[in-house]
Amino acid sequence: MSIDSLPPLREVIERHGLMAKKSLGQNFLFDLNLTAKIARQAGDLAGQTVIEVGPGPGGLTRALLAQGANVIAIERDERCLAALQEIADHYPGALKVIPGDALEVDFTQLANGSEVKIVANLPYNVGTQLLIGWLLSEPWPPFYASLTLMFQREVAERIVARPGSDAYGRLGVLAGWRTDAKITFDVPPQAFTPPPKVTSSVVHLVPRQSPLACDAATLGRVTQAAFGQRRKMLRQSIKPLGGEALLQKVGIDPTRRAETLSIEEFVALANAL
Ligand code: SAM
Repeated sequence: MSIDSLPPLREVIERHGLMAKKSLGQNFLFDLNLTAKIARQAGDLAGQTVIEVGPGPGGLTRALLAQGANVIAIERDERCLAALQEIADHYPGALKVIPGDALEVDFTQLANGSEVKIVANLPYNVGTQLLIGWLLSEPWPPFYASLTLMFQREVAERIVARPGSDAYGRLGVLAGWRTDAKITFDVPPQAFTPPPKVTSSVVHLVPRQSPLACDAATLGRVTQAAFGQRRKMLRQSIKPLGGEALLQKVGIDPTRRAETLSIEEFVALANAL
């Protein structure tokens, strides 16, 4: 199958000497059916601006462009830039590549007032940090209309986790508070080159227009303290934030553990701080 008459990705990798680097979380996708399927999870992309983190040799980028998106792609590995330039030449004006570290990018500024979707096969080593930054965005509703992101399955489960489950933690509270998050499908290790050790999953998150009112940074601090010591009772884990007195103020039993608190209860705690 060809979506764009560009050379096959394996050939691109060979010609540009793009041996995957573990330190950059590089697990490339070559299957065009799969990259097209990921792009489709983001909905209609015709004329839509998409920000992609970590395009690598450009497999997913090509799928996004083939579906009519204008893509802004941030890539840290300079070795990939020549391969990405070939794609940019094939889609004049539709692909802008920003060399550099996505952790240092001001995404709101990059979006520049237009509604964007974020779609990425994220490097595993910075994926959760990026997601937390997007979830704590201010103002809210945020600069993005949706996030369609590939994570290790275990991380995806934490994003959609509900209270009481082992996977429930800071990610579940922040994602559940501000977005409607769903795992859309799994991707087996052998779909990647090189194959990672574990199964991956695509997660689709849509911002809630009116999440419960709460200061994002404060909720970030409360969840960090509470789940930083998740096996301890809350009166101990959130002691630096007010411990037992704070819990009593909002009627939460201080002997409970973080994983038993609902999102509403975390919001109440943050608002009482
Ligand atoms: N999108 C490609 C695909 O699906 O085949 C590559 C995905 S690979 C899992 C992650 C990509 O993110 C790599 O190209 C890697 O160089 C890039 N990357 C790693 N850390 C980054 C960072 N901090 N900022 C921007 N890109 C990064």
